[in-house]
Amino acid sequence: LEPKEEFEHKTLAMDVMRPRHSDPPLSVLTQSGMSVDQVEAMIADTSYSGFPIVVSQESPRLVGFVLRRDLVISIDNARRVQEGIVGASEVLFNEQTSTLPPGGPPPLNLRSILDLSPLAITDHTPIDITVDIFRKLGLRQCLVTQNGRLLGIITKKDILKHMAQMTNRDPESILFN
Ligand code: ADP
Repeated sequence: LEPKEEFEHKTLAMDVMRPRHSDPPLSVLTQSGMSVDQVEAMIADTSYSGFPIVVSQESPRLVGFVLRRDLVISIDNARRVQEGIVGASEVLFNEQTSTLPPGGPPPLNLRSILDLSPLAITDHTPIDITVDIFRKLGLRQCLVTQNGRLLGIITKKDILKHMAQMTNRDPESILFN
């Protein structure tokens, strides 16, 4: 087999996605139950461009995706202009009601900045098809799931790095030619 064919037949989304086995787990937000303080801590502790939203920590089903910059802007804005929003306010990413005990401050609803249908592929998707999807849809990232459970994320840079490693080619020329 030519190296390229071997690469195309054998590499799957699961081989390129993050986190790798040795990495810390995916940084996700839950659709309810997290406070503004907790969300801000995740923003401060990481530098990722975005965060998947899941049903709950126990049930990592994919609900959507939120961009870091939209989160930062919306929380800053709400803290300034929205009555009653404090660090303990619950952040809600959907219409369902709070999962925190009653009596707390009013919740912050961030549904409007949530992408409710981010592109997701299965962990067994061959990487050449994944590359096609990135190219044709102009994606910056896509999520990887297995039977609806969120497993990981692949960014355009992850793909470019992987391809450069496998083919010794200039990464930019692979995705854009
Ligand atoms: P880029 O790949 O363009 O630098 P990011 O800064 O978003 O984009 O991601 C940096 C790395 O972290 C990538 O390898 C990506 O797969 C991974 N990553 C992105 N988002 C998350 C997340 N929420 N949790 C864990 N890893 C992530």
